[in-house]
Amino acid sequence: MFDYRDATAPIEERVKNLLTQMTPEEKIGQMMVLPSKVEGNIDKIEQWGVGSYFHCAGDKTQELQRRAENTRLGIPIIFAIDAVHGHCFENNATVFPTQLAASCSWDHDVMYNMGRVTATEVRGCGIHWTFSPVLCVGRDTRWGRINETFGEDPWLIGEMATAIIKGYQGDSLNADDTVMACAKHYVGYGETLGGRDAYESSISQRTLLTHFLPPFEKAVKEGGVATLMASYQSIDGTPCSADPWLMRDIPKTQWGMDGFVVTDWDNVGALHEKQFVAASYAEAANIGVKAGNDMIMTTLAFYDAALEQLKNGQLESHWVDDAVARILRYKFKLGLFDERRYCDLSAKKEIVGQPAHWQHALEASRKSLTLLKNKNNALPLNAEQLNKILVVGPNADNVKAQLGDWSFGSYQAGATDDKMHKSSTVTVLQGIKTLLSSHNIDTPYVQGAHCADDDIDSISEAVTQAQQSDVLIACIGDTLSQQGEFHDRSDLNLGGKQQALLEALKATGKPLIIVYIASKPLAISWVKDNADAILCAFNPGAKGGTAIAEALFGEFNPSGKLTISFPYSVGQLPVYYNSYPGWHSVLSDRLDGVERYFDAPKEPVFSFGEGLSYTQFNYADLQILTPKLIAEQTLRVSVQLSNTGAREGCEIVQLYIRDLYSSVVTPIKNLRAFKRVTLAAGESTEVILEVAYWDLALINRALEKVVEPGEFEVMVGTSSKDSDLLKARFWVED
Ligand code: BGC
Repeated sequence: MFDYRDATAPIEERVKNLLTQMTPEEKIGQMMVLPSKVEGNIDKIEQWGVGSYFHCAGDKTQELQRRAENTRLGIPIIFAIDAVHGHCFENNATVFPTQLAASCSWDHDVMYNMGRVTATEVRGCGIHWTFSPVLCVGRDTRWGRINETFGEDPWLIGEMATAIIKGYQGDSLNADDTVMACAKHYVGYGETLGGRDAYESSISQRTLLTHFLPPFEKAVKEGGVATLMASYQSIDGTPCSADPWLMRDIPKTQWGMDGFVVTDWDNVGALHEKQFVAASYAEAANIGVKAGNDMIMTTLAFYDAALEQLKNGQLESHWVDDAVARILRYKFKLGLFDERRYCDLSAKKEIVGQPAHWQHALEASRKSLTLLKNKNNALPLNAEQLNKILVVGPNADNVKAQLGDWSFGSYQAGATDDKMHKSSTVTVLQGIKTLLSSHNIDTPYVQGAHCADDDIDSISEAVTQAQQSDVLIACIGDTLSQQGEFHDRSDLNLGGKQQALLEALKATGKPLIIVYIASKPLAISWVKDNADAILCAFNPGAKGGTAIAEALFGEFNPSGKLTISFPYSVGQLPVYYNSYPGWHSVLSDRLDGVERYFDAPKEPVFSFGEGLSYTQFNYADLQILTPKLIAEQTLRVSVQLSNTGAREGCEIVQLYIRDLYSSVVTPIKNLRAFKRVTLAAGESTEVILEVAYWDLALINRALEKVVEPGEFEVMVGTSSKDSDLLKARFWVED
């Protein structure tokens, strides 16, 4: 028999051996993950043998690890943190754009590098696990957590998530620069009623299988993600953490995931206290473990409750053994029983925020910038022709608004500390001043308005300065206190006096350039109609100011494409491109059939996939190279792409599919492939795009995934808008 301490023994044997030596108390202890900063939790290392702590870093991790080593079996602790767009809880760490911003790059490498850099910095601080990435589908922008998503498209979410997971986890977790990833929140968390965080959602199994589970499936099967986090809400009356089909059958049995499921904050306690599906903590523990929650976050009552259930036989030991085996498996994989129990923190200073890491962050910021409007080539600006530029608006020089959520600690929305990341952040104002330092251009800054409050009004000062300026750069959007958990919005208009500020600036007749820094799409149709140019940055990260200045002055050519639609108004929500055809909207002149309101435009203000360039691209000659597809065959499509403008640019070529006639109603289009293509001025190329056979599938009424024979439409172009797409048809053979 192998001994679990034997580093040469196979991991599964070590797990088995250790399990046989554990008492029920030690097993339940392993299933707990607690916040280290809450009073009394640390003492539970000796009392309970707690399996994991979160929001703890540096020397403290080593001290706690030593205490764990001194317990009876010496089982090491997994340390976890929410390193969501960089190891942001650590001052001086590399802060990337948020997921929403970075997703606009549509760039696997950007995602992978973001994961790699973050993992290196997190592990370098003694931490083994990040509660990231977020795979929620962002369809209702009232929701406070839109910034954390990769946008509205499940297929793209799967692509971006898999790339970042590979970056986090590297080739092996037994390394000093990799961490376990956690795909969250599993599942359908963005679908809660009215965009209200953690409320009830109503999603059928077919819809889950069609839209919400596929990104997670890709994360498990292609990304090999180590863990999933259960979401808070209930679906059709069953809390996610109480649903064995969701937590156990799908990921573990069907997808073959060998890692573990962690609950979100107090999910098991909530079964009793908030969702009222369990009459006691004992019942909650029983339901939670049987459903497949392996690690229980923060629910202190779980310990006694689960033990009681285990001892009285209500909770059969094999459920607990399965959970504990999954957790132990990853402790072995991380090398924590062996040479990686302790972390050499002496190198931490050199690892965190090293120049090469910032280079990746800057690259991510650049690639996430999306040009949404550019009337008469208002951008790029030519520094040679300008004497005075007014920089104006609440987000031009505001670290908290620029970095956004999960940048300042766990209660980030209420963050008052404005020193964190201050020295490493380049604001837009700073970026512009630095870029123009060798020019003799006056660049005054007037804040003009706040994002959230009405209490500042320097609009008249802004107007006076604007009248004397050649161009106005207005940085608007939202700020930290208007987003994140517990901060859903019922009003998506620009907050504070931003609208009044913009209208006053517009009245000066000076060119109005908008830099949009926000956690989500707001209702900005006035801005679309009235600005000369709009550069969308969302929360562009600590080097966002540098990237934005470079883009404004043409030092690089922006290439981002939106991954989320901008609603016309709150009432137009949810609005997303891959909606279903509604037959009352199939008017004779419009056969694309998306439902609409009579008092709002049919289209969003900006659509999924939109994004301009300083050059122009032309699409021609769409050809299907596999016009009659047989089972398992890859669809191949070719299109001619030309850069018809005067400078080099990168175009994100998008391919959408529609199943023309099917046994169930299917979306009017679904993104199924894309390619980033860089072309010199005047250059043309043939772009080949491929679609995997199973990406043509639907979920039928029997809940089976099938590709139904028949005719399909393929659409290729520069955005999801019909007017931007070339179309052709192909057949899937019987
Ligand atoms: C959030 C999670 C997060 C956890 C730990 C929860 O409130 O929903 O996304 O990972 O807290 O900080």
